[in-house]
Amino acid sequence: FAKRAGGQQVHFFDEAQALEEQQEQLLRQRIKEGIGRNEFILAYQPKVDMQRGLVIGVEALVRWQHPERGLLQPAAFVPLIEDHELVEELGDWAIGESVRQAAAWLAAGVKTSVSVNISPRHLLRADLVDRLAFHLGRFPQLHAGVLELEILETTAIKDFAAVADFIHACKKLGVPVTMDDFGTGYSSLTYLRRLPVSAIKLDQSFVRGMLEDAEDRAIVEGILVMARGLGRKAIAEGVESVAHGDALMALGCTLGQGYGISRPLSPERIPDWIAGFERSPPWRGTTVAEQG
Ligand code: C2E
Ligand code: MG
Ligand code: MG
Ligand code: MG
Repeated sequence: FAKRAGGQQVHFFDEAQALEEQQEQLLRQRIKEGIGRNEFILAYQPKVDMQRGLVIGVEALVRWQHPERGLLQPAAFVPLIEDHELVEELGDWAIGESVRQAAAWLAAGVKTSVSVNISPRHLLRADLVDRLAFHLGRFPQLHAGVLELEILETTAIKDFAAVADFIHACKKLGVPVTMDDFGTGYSSLTYLRRLPVSAIKLDQSFVRGMLEDAEDRAIVEGILVMARGLGRKAIAEGVESVAHGDALMALGCTLGQGYGISRPLSPERIPDWIAGFERSPPWRGTTVAEQG
């Protein structure tokens, strides 16, 4: 009897799994259509020099303006396509759109670089560097450094040789690469030393915890010492309050990004936000609502 019940359970599980896979496949189909119908948009979150009161760039963060379900955050759809060709399509769109937006801001007198998150699968595409050059080539008034990339530490460890080649090629093209979510992938000093990334971004989990948790603080300190020793810039994400900014600056980390500085904003709001921030140094932790 137990065997039979077990068998039925397995059968039920298979069916549930098949149904889930079917639904995910449908959603992927919708994502593909959504790209064609221009349903995806980018929000831009400022990255600043907290000490000097300067904006050093903005990070492009994808959202899906779904006609029925409203505005969807990346967590609702990016994981579903990470292992599919679709993530390359969406990523290529994000690069093209970011470069176009940078050119539009420049035409309006606002000079800022835009960093784009690149998925592991997209990163390993042989023609990615050519695509970067293609998108930049459409706007000869932009210098290559206007585009920056953020890659994950975990990808760099898994496919070290390919990722190292990619970063070298980006450097040659003039596109700086940052290692995102640093500290979550347990990569060693040796890895970082051999990868010519211009900056590392401290993962927000450590930054958020550093005020109350001595261990998070120790990790932040350790990463900052290491970055300095290897001659790389360090930027903190998850700066949620003035206290976080102060604690980071006390440790010599002056570059930050987080809700305490600004939420991700629609592109129309970026020029005024930059002007306002740079008009009123030092940083006092003005918070702004997203997408307003
Ligand atoms: P990420 O690249 O590490 O981006 C930072 C995420 O943290 C963003 O969430 C941002 O809104 C959020 N954040 C910023 N400051 C704070 C803060 O002070 N506190 C807290 N709690 N959160 C903060 P978002 O936009 O939901 O993006 C989540 C992740 O989705 C990104 O993590 C990135 O891995 C991925 N993603 C976003 N846009 C793209 C894209 O265009 N392509 C790909 N492949 N992935 C993307
Ligand atoms: Mg990022
Ligand atoms: Mg990050
Ligand atoms: Mg993250």
